[in-house]
Amino acid sequence: MGLTHSSTGLGAVSSELVIKRNGNERVIAVAGNPNVGKSTLFNAITGMKQHTGNWPGKTVANAVGFYKSEKHSYIFVDIPGTYSLFAHSPEEEIARDFICSASSETVVAVCDATCLERSLNLVLQILEIKSNVIVCVNLLDEAKRKGIEIDLKLLEKRLGVAVVGTVARKKKSIKGLIKRLDESVENSKKRAYTVVYPQKIEEACERISTFISPKESFNARWAAARLLCGDFRVLQGFCEQEKLTITEATRQVKAELEEEGLNEQKCEEMIASSVVFSAEAVCNGAVFETKKKYSQRDRKIDKILTGKAVGYPVMILLLLFVFWLTISGANYFSEILSFLFSKAENFLNEILISIKTPNEIRSFLVEGVFRVPAWVVSVMLPPMMVFFPLFTLLEDLGYLPRIAFNLDKPFKKCKSCGKQALTMCMGFGCNAAGVVGARIVDSKRERLLAIITNSLVPCNGRFPAIIAIISMFFVAGVGAFGGLASSVILTLVILFGVGVTFLSTKLLSETLLKGEPSSYTLELPPYRRPQILRVIIRSVFDRTVFVLGRALVAAVPAGAVIWIMANVTVGGQSLLLIAADFLDPLARLMGLDGVILIAFILGLPANEIVLPIIIMAYLSNDAIVDAFSVEQMREILTLNGWNSVTAICTITFFLFHWPCSTTLMTIKKETNSLKWTAVSLLFPTVIGAVLCITINLIARAIGA
Ligand code: GDP
Repeated sequence: MGLTHSSTGLGAVSSELVIKRNGNERVIAVAGNPNVGKSTLFNAITGMKQHTGNWPGKTVANAVGFYKSEKHSYIFVDIPGTYSLFAHSPEEEIARDFICSASSETVVAVCDATCLERSLNLVLQILEIKSNVIVCVNLLDEAKRKGIEIDLKLLEKRLGVAVVGTVARKKKSIKGLIKRLDESVENSKKRAYTVVYPQKIEEACERISTFISPKESFNARWAAARLLCGDFRVLQGFCEQEKLTITEATRQVKAELEEEGLNEQKCEEMIASSVVFSAEAVCNGAVFETKKKYSQRDRKIDKILTGKAVGYPVMILLLLFVFWLTISGANYFSEILSFLFSKAENFLNEILISIKTPNEIRSFLVEGVFRVPAWVVSVMLPPMMVFFPLFTLLEDLGYLPRIAFNLDKPFKKCKSCGKQALTMCMGFGCNAAGVVGARIVDSKRERLLAIITNSLVPCNGRFPAIIAIISMFFVAGVGAFGGLASSVILTLVILFGVGVTFLSTKLLSETLLKGEPSSYTLELPPYRRPQILRVIIRSVFDRTVFVLGRALVAAVPAGAVIWIMANVTVGGQSLLLIAADFLDPLARLMGLDGVILIAFILGLPANEIVLPIIIMAYLSNDAIVDAFSVEQMREILTLNGWNSVTAICTITFFLFHWPCSTTLMTIKKETNSLKWTAVSLLFPTVIGAVLCITINLIARAIGA
């Protein structure tokens, strides 16, 4: 649930990243397998707040940060995690493009000390492209707990480049890395380890590489090997004439190899195996396992959490527990905020009256510009303050990939994949983040499925409003059990959203996005103890403030617009009423009213402002002064004709309607297609409208 500027696609930089240097900064790429601590290391060095979490695939675009050591200034680039540089997936492409580009002078290759051999596969591939590499063996604390010891000196000797051990979560452990980095940029001549291929491949590479003119930061032997595997993207940047010559030479060499039964696929297999054997040889005698049983603990927990009988009930109970804590915790904050805002509004009113502000302007400022943002804060902030830290704790613990694992089968039945579950979880935080996160899905078809269906689960802008309506209409009078009853209903609402996600995925797979599910490997990372204090601070300050800031930016102008619409009259009727009247027949058919529908439309910039707009619009008719608590809200809504059917239909439309404008812009950016953006807009809206109409008609039929 990466809810930051970069994760919502707003600040992320793409593979075509152009590094702007102000002076003579050195550009350092931070590369490695997914989930080895690259972003944690990057954050520790640069002080940035890149999204970290215990699951593979969080970083989907390059991110940039700065650091000044005693000797040099550096620009660090955090690139997406990848297992190889064969460029078969978008992340591999982004990572490879950046490592190959002249921009990255040095690569810090981050490895997982608990499975070094696997990490070294990538390191050896990086060494084939660049020799200025520092190998950072991270997660040493976890390795120690698992009884794994690593001879870093021997590793350094074998690899021919600097090797440093770190625990990225502990800032002071990165000092050694910076020291070696300073040394390495001053003395970049290295004789690094070279993977030796089978003789036939070596000879073929040599023949092709004679046609490749030497270039700085470009390894001709590596490029020749890639060409043998049919990967002609490595020739980007060469002039047309050179491309022609090299392509012709490659064609000849490949034709000869094919006669000997070595086609592209076979060549790639042989090259990949050479890398695997080399990694094994490098680790041999440098890695010692003193305890054998440690990872069995994780396996035992997984047997329960991902087991057939217990997996789903645990998932649902956990969801219920998270919502219960969110709702009960939010109540306390709500009471405080409602008190503070009433006081603040009175105070503001008095000041404006005392300085003799004209009545119209005072009303505009207090009831328009102040009240909607104040509403947004009082509705949104309390649940977010509790939900974000809880969700981040689960994320850091490593539970999210287990959810994906559990949901893999049902998603496969709908012809998609379990990775869609991860993007769905990210959607709980912010749908725009979920859409960007869909980059972890390798197949284009399944990526589109994940993008189009992402807004079928409520984001944080929507579920505080859903919670508020549930509390107002369905659990009033349940007393001490109100919190629990609300959480049960909210869990059912969310499960309904998840159910509709499955059905929609299936429907799309049978119609617009026909195809078979791809095969992929979903990794279950080890359980890690979350850093509780950091998680709380980070989720409150980074995520809550980010979401709230975005909502407020939309709320202030929305407050002004709604006030103007409510106060400017044409033919004796306010603009708001005219618009609401116009939409009323359709809205009534959907079990809503014109005001609710116009609020949804005006709430396009941010769902957070829909409920405040509804209340504001009703308040502009009635003369109730302040309404910052749930009881006051319920009173206003019932005065304006709301009943339980209106509440159910509004919740349904909150769950299924068009994504907010940020999400739509992100979809356009990610799919590069107006058609898919339009489908993503219409699909949930049609579902919502059809469901609302059905609920309303059934309710009318049974006389509810
Ligand atoms: P990335 O995918 O490689 O960028 O990995 P992240 O930086 O997101 O880290 C993955 C998980 O490992 C997060 O939960 C981190 O808090 C945790 N982590 C990172 N480095 C260390 C470390 O040195 N020790 C421990 N115990 N956990 C770490």
